[in-house]
Amino acid sequence: MAVASISAANVAVSASLSVGASVGQADQRRCSSSLKTLPLSAGQVSGIKVSGSLSCKNELRGIISAERSVSARQGGVFKIMALAQKAEYIWMDGQEGQKGIRFNEMRSKTKVIQEPIKAGSLDFPKWSFDGSSTGQAEGRFSDCILNPVFSCPDPIRGDNHVLVLCEVLNPDSTPHETNTRRKIEELLTPDVLAEETLFGFEQEYTMFNKAAKVYGWPEGGFPHPQGPFYCGVGLEAVYGRPLVEAHMDACIKAGLKISGINAEVMPGQWEFQIGPAGPLEVGDHVMVARWLLHRLGEDFGITCTFEPKPMEGDWNGAGAHTNYSTKSMRVDGGIKAIHAAIEKLSKKHAEHISSYGLGNERRLTGKHETANINTFKSGVADRGASIRIPLGVSLEGKGYLEDRRPAANVDPYVVARMLIQTTLKN
Ligand code: ADP
Ligand code: MN
Ligand code: MN
Ligand code: MN
Repeated sequence: MAVASISAANVAVSASLSVGASVGQADQRRCSSSLKTLPLSAGQVSGIKVSGSLSCKNELRGIISAERSVSARQGGVFKIMALAQKAEYIWMDGQEGQKGIRFNEMRSKTKVIQEPIKAGSLDFPKWSFDGSSTGQAEGRFSDCILNPVFSCPDPIRGDNHVLVLCEVLNPDSTPHETNTRRKIEELLTPDVLAEETLFGFEQEYTMFNKAAKVYGWPEGGFPHPQGPFYCGVGLEAVYGRPLVEAHMDACIKAGLKISGINAEVMPGQWEFQIGPAGPLEVGDHVMVARWLLHRLGEDFGITCTFEPKPMEGDWNGAGAHTNYSTKSMRVDGGIKAIHAAIEKLSKKHAEHISSYGLGNERRLTGKHETANINTFKSGVADRGASIRIPLGVSLEGKGYLEDRRPAANVDPYVVARMLIQTTLKN
């Protein structure tokens, strides 16, 4: 196993810089107040890999302070202090499920920012990328714009580094056709805002190993039939928990509204939940959580896929149940509003299905805790329904409904928009 935890990943970063001690906030203050910046040449900082824009020694001087350590233990080692901030700009190319079973839609690149900006701020500068390399533009007019919409601490790099989620704009600043987030913003009129819509997104996914087999499955065969795996414990029942734990830790450190995880019905399949959160926030947090899952998978040698039916046969598919409520549903007697919403949803079934994820017809078969894709069915505590009213909600007479139709590879912004559109704009 490679780097096995988030803190280990940090150590790896420090080690590659040949830093004697960590470069935390405390060090930063001490260094900037009492240390001299030595006139370094690139050759003097042997042990530091200097590449790209850092290879110019003047730029190097600008971002790195160094001292010859005075303590005997650190004798002769330059103490390096990186003052600049790494901002990982993350975006979606809008092609989830279109590049094969295991490739995903997330893209990201790092911007080094000399004057650090606070995590959570939206003051990060716009940036651009080559849209012709992501399937988002033609070669001749290929620059797309990254416009920051959400930022949070980077739990992997630590320190003051950040993740910056971006929406994609065309060169003329209009929203790109893959920009489904903007379409929600346009729906958030005062009447919708007054309903304070909330969403809980259950993101299921399946782990694959480097040999393109489901992670943990026996070589050349199949595991025990489904049954002991859902919320299981023990070496025989559970495959891949170290990644799940690292991912949950990362989401918590990033400040995402992760509300839980569980092992799923098919071995090697897992779920994390984001929410309850508002319509933009739920999508933002889901997308950053998806990025973290893929990024940590690199360190664990695991590929996570949102493919709706990764294994044919008697194996569960992967969905993204979306729990949804309005203010009217959450107050006493809200069950009436829940039934009214279900009535509206029943009339727009085909429309919702057409946007609920590529390949979803292989998952929504009527078996494996799904309703058939061509049938709209609702029911209390019914996991074979399209829309389920949780038992507790039915007993209390208020709460939320669960849309069980979205596939794991669905765009969370699309689900939120369609639920609002159908239940509040019809
Ligand atoms: P399941 O029993 O279907 O596996 P989970 O516990 O996985 O349910 O997910 C339930 C989700 O519902 C959680 O993400 C939770 O945050 C969300 N949720 C709870 N209350 C509400 C509400 N009032 N409105 C929207 N979502 C809610
Ligand atoms: Mn669940
Ligand atoms: Mn589930
Ligand atoms: Mn569910």
